[in-house]
Amino acid sequence: MRRILVTSALPYANGPIHLGHMTETIQCDIWVRAMKLAGHEVIYVCADDTHGTPIMLKAEAEGITPEALIGRVGAEHRADFAAFDIGFDNYYTTHSEENRRLTVRMYEALVRAGHITRRSVRQAYDEKAGMFLPDRYVKGTCPRCGTPDQYGDSCENCGATYSTSDLIDPVSVVSGTTPIERESEHVFFRLGNFEAMLRKWTRSGALQDAVANKLDEWFEAGLRDWDVSRDAPYFGIEIPDAPGKYFYVWLDAPVGYMASFANYCARAGLDFESWWAPDSKAELHHFIGKDILYFHSLFWPATLEGAGFRKPTAVHAHGFLTVNGEKMSKSRGTFVTARRYLDHLPPDYFRYFLAAKLGPGLEDIDMSLEEFATRINADLVGKLVNIASRCASFIHRGYGGQLAAELPEPALYREFVDAGAGIVEAWESLEFAAAVREIMALADRANLYIDRQKPWLAAKDPARAAEVQAVCTQGINLFRALMAYLKPVLPGTAERAEAFLGSRIAHWRDVESPLLGAKINEYQPLATRLDAASVQKLLEMPMPPTESPAIAAGPAQITPEDFARIDLRVALVETAEYVEGADRLLKLGVDLGGERRTVFAGIRGAYEPAALVGRQVVIVANLKPKKMRFGTSEGMALAASGDDGLFLLSPDAGARAGMKVS
Ligand SMILES: [Zn+2]
Repeated sequence: MRRILVTSALPYANGPIHLGHMTETIQCDIWVRAMKLAGHEVIYVCADDTHGTPIMLKAEAEGITPEALIGRVGAEHRADFAAFDIGFDNYYTTHSEENRRLTVRMYEALVRAGHITRRSVRQAYDEKAGMFLPDRYVKGTCPRCGTPDQYGDSCENCGATYSTSDLIDPVSVVSGTTPIERESEHVFFRLGNFEAMLRKWTRSGALQDAVANKLDEWFEAGLRDWDVSRDAPYFGIEIPDAPGKYFYVWLDAPVGYMASFANYCARAGLDFESWWAPDSKAELHHFIGKDILYFHSLFWPATLEGAGFRKPTAVHAHGFLTVNGEKMSKSRGTFVTARRYLDHLPPDYFRYFLAAKLGPGLEDIDMSLEEFATRINADLVGKLVNIASRCASFIHRGYGGQLAAELPEPALYREFVDAGAGIVEAWESLEFAAAVREIMALADRANLYIDRQKPWLAAKDPARAAEVQAVCTQGINLFRALMAYLKPVLPGTAERAEAFLGSRIAHWRDVESPLLGAKINEYQPLATRLDAASVQKLLEMPMPPTESPAIAAGPAQITPEDFARIDLRVALVETAEYVEGADRLLKLGVDLGGERRTVFAGIRGAYEPAALVGRQVVIVANLKPKKMRFGTSEGMALAASGDDGLFLLSPDAGARAGMKVS
């Protein structure tokens, strides 16, 4: 039996959990459940990551305390994880006494061992807000390419990296004022002291090869001292020997794994030190997204080693979740929160889809919504639960729900048992997609067996009653084995299947003994078909942009002379009618103060013709006439438009037709 402490990445407590974050959490949860079914002692802990400037500023913007913010968001996170059946043994917060105590303990040990140094840094300071500004809180014009509105550390347009002081016209995003430069003494962790240890550790099997290769690049670039302090105001843990300074959130966040475990130990009566001592025989596994590798594979093992703790046994990183082939994006409506998913679909479907796509590597995982529906329908509905629903009805109709006393095909059942070793091995080595493929191949075998035996034909002949019961008993047992193998992936469905079978799978070895002579309960549908339209509901309508797109990225500037070339006039609408064969257009007859014009306007979706007659509009009067299929348009009516609709412009009361607009 192995003793294993497992963590999944800490969600940041400033907003909802999205499906990307749910990906590593579910990957971790599947692994934990598989290891528990193998009989290992596994403890799975996690916590909310609650410190740092973004939390502080968000709370301030909402007019609440950071504690109130992380309390509210934390409750939402817990509810989302619970709904996805994440089996944490403990879920905690980094804003805890345990975390403060352990972070300080780590820091003091690092100081004693000579791994901490201090030096002065010059940093942008917002005099109005009274705070030092992290790079991302200063915006300005890129010093290289001149693109405005770039962050203080890099340019999104040309990719240049620079320091905040290089920005042209820098502005604090907190107060909108121009920051000044100010000196501040900062506390640094001397990462370079650990290069030899890290080079060895990264090749010890603790990391995937692709990750270890990436680390080699970082070693080549040189391991620089890491600034682990931030100046007040900051929401976090104060540094004991540096008043007014706080530990950078990334120092205390991973300590949150330890803190959550310490909190669990106090409750469960475990010895914390025996799990975290340098010579501990227990294993430590972290599951993370590839974006936070630097912290988990360099800083974290180094700070642990430096402070006299054990290092991770393994850090498992995975790729990003994309939706329909694209990065999740709020503006495209593909940013799917966990809650939004749960409002439309059952948690086990996403868990299954992920498992079917996940391997041990760093490749991105695409959630094509079409593929999602196809896979759920083909695998879960068409193959897996189909076996149970077909067989259960015969067992209930003819035999009072009682299974036969023996299997008609023990060899076939044996095949299912024997396949278990490979499947279990695949779960343990994170070859999830391979495990799912193997299980579905077995499901095909089970369905083929039933198709060949044709119990629906035998059931018509009373003389073959025992045969029908035997075939369906075989089918039910094959289903039970499949459900057991999928139990790490489908905990909710497995629980309902166990209730139906009246038999619980607590260990992989339980599969070896088939369920015979027992009474099963009424079958309740375990999975239902998805139609593609309901899956599409996962995607939101894109959020309206906060700025009008024309302002954010409009045409080039013009001079007053340019503008004066446009002859805008007030016009009175005298007639308005539908245009046959044009479902967007209305034909307007307008008076420009004596001159009559015909204008075709694309406003049919927004206005009834009758409502327009007698009102004034604004017309571009010197627009070159445009020949259309329905006639010639001699001008253009001005209207505002956006996601909310289309709105004609008109002057205030008192204006007369023909007046110039400028
Ligand atoms: Zn640039």
